[in-house]
Amino acid sequence: MMSDWFKTKKPHKLPTRAQPATDAPAPRKYDAVVVGAGPAGASAAYFMARDGLDVLLLERGPFPGAKTCGGAAIIAEQAHELFPNFWEEFSYERIVTRLDYWWLSEDSAVTAGFTSSRLSAAPYNRLSVKRKNLYTWLAAKAVAAGATLLLGHHVAGVLLDGYQAVGVRVAPPQSTDYLADLVILADGANSLLAERAGLIPPVTAANLSLYAKETIALPPATIEERFCLPPGQGAAIGLIGYPTAGYNGTGSIHTFHDSINISAGMSVSAYAAGGFSPGDLLERIKKHPRIQPLLDGGVTTEYGAAMIPEGGYHAIPPLVHPGLLIAGDAASLVNGIHGINLAMWSGFYAAKAAFEAKKNRDFSIRKLSLYRTLLDESFILQNMRTNAKAATLQRDRPYLFDLYSRLANEAAYQMVRAYPMPVKDKRKFIWRKVTSLQPVGKIAADIWQVLKVVKG
Ligand SMILES: Cc1cc2nc3c(=O)[nH]c(=O)nc-3n(C[C@H](O)[C@H](O)[C@H](O)COP(=O)(O)OP(=O)(O)OC[C@H]3O[C@@H](n4cnc5c(N)ncnc54)[C@H](O)[C@@H]3O)c2cc1C
Repeated sequence: MMSDWFKTKKPHKLPTRAQPATDAPAPRKYDAVVVGAGPAGASAAYFMARDGLDVLLLERGPFPGAKTCGGAAIIAEQAHELFPNFWEEFSYERIVTRLDYWWLSEDSAVTAGFTSSRLSAAPYNRLSVKRKNLYTWLAAKAVAAGATLLLGHHVAGVLLDGYQAVGVRVAPPQSTDYLADLVILADGANSLLAERAGLIPPVTAANLSLYAKETIALPPATIEERFCLPPGQGAAIGLIGYPTAGYNGTGSIHTFHDSINISAGMSVSAYAAGGFSPGDLLERIKKHPRIQPLLDGGVTTEYGAAMIPEGGYHAIPPLVHPGLLIAGDAASLVNGIHGINLAMWSGFYAAKAAFEAKKNRDFSIRKLSLYRTLLDESFILQNMRTNAKAATLQRDRPYLFDLYSRLANEAAYQMVRAYPMPVKDKRKFIWRKVTSLQPVGKIAADIWQVLKVVKG
């Protein structure tokens, strides 16, 4: 059984009390110790172990990737490049064949979407997954390749010799120091380990978003009927506008085999300004007249909150340090809401740099900079660079989503109304309605800013 694999792997014998790094009895030194068994850490551990490095993977939770539970949509085509046909090795939920965006006002939705049976063929475009299944499978691969995984090990800090990272210290009850030539921090959004070690500046409240999410159980046939899906196929819907009440944020709906995931979030600074809680945003979405019928009769099985670093390209901190690399969310490698693939790929590139460093017995910044070079050349950073202006625009003009969703809904509503008036007069009437929400000059200025972003 999948859940038994880590029980059969014997953990290393651990000292039983806390000791300072300097006088602890020399434990076995690893080539690399990886903190966090989410997609970034488990991928790094897998690729390093596969290349013959001696790897220790430490996870504070009771299962890999415990920080962000629930489900997600993974871009399968990209993950397939790293883990060919990975969907054959673990149980995913649905093949996503319907991608929608809904611009919501208080009572309506203007929607744009794409659905195609072509998306149902392997290699799939997107798969909805339960994180626990995906992350456990990935960590199991790392273990099968030779890495050692220790669950329930909370890393308290990075051990430094001058500026060189030389290992990590695990908090009580294990209170153990683990030494390594290379430390990879993959501890997720808002990496306190990197911050406390003075390796990165604190993540700002404007660049960190907090999402509330809820899993609602429904029979598979009901989900397929409500979302117009063939059996086994799924939908991913981005929700824009009304859910975040004029602040910088979004919501989403994902379908799983027998449940729906609904989430909403915005930047930490927006919560402070708006006086909302993450739960308030979720309730706004759930009560929306276009969304409530999709959830009707469902039973809440999971509720939680999690952070996403959404600062974009310009918020990426220094990722390479003497004897240490930072990957995944800890490195702010998130594009929009998508982070799982970026985490996996950054783990892969970190492993490549680790392999070269080990071959040359050189774990200096100079040698490890290969990691940053590979990232820079990859689709990950190229796409983040392309989207950098969009992230800034969204942060500087947080009203855009809400205002233009309301505007689009008002225009659409008036267009479908059948007033007894000539079309020419109706057009003027609609224009007056729309410009009463935002004056023409300001609409033109917003369009100009958006065009500048689109032009790149
Ligand atoms: C609500 C929400 C919805 C999302 N939806 C999607 C989506 O649909 N598609 C997508 O691609 N991405 C999505 N994301 C983003 C995605 O979840 C992350 O980008 C991805 O999980 C990052 O992987 P990671 O390995 O860097 O970090 P994580 O997945 O956060 O893993 C970090 C791991 O480190 C462990 N850890 C942390 N601190 C320590 C410590 N001190 N000691 C030991 N272990 C530690 C944690 O327990 C955790 O297991 C979503 C995020 C949120 C919050």
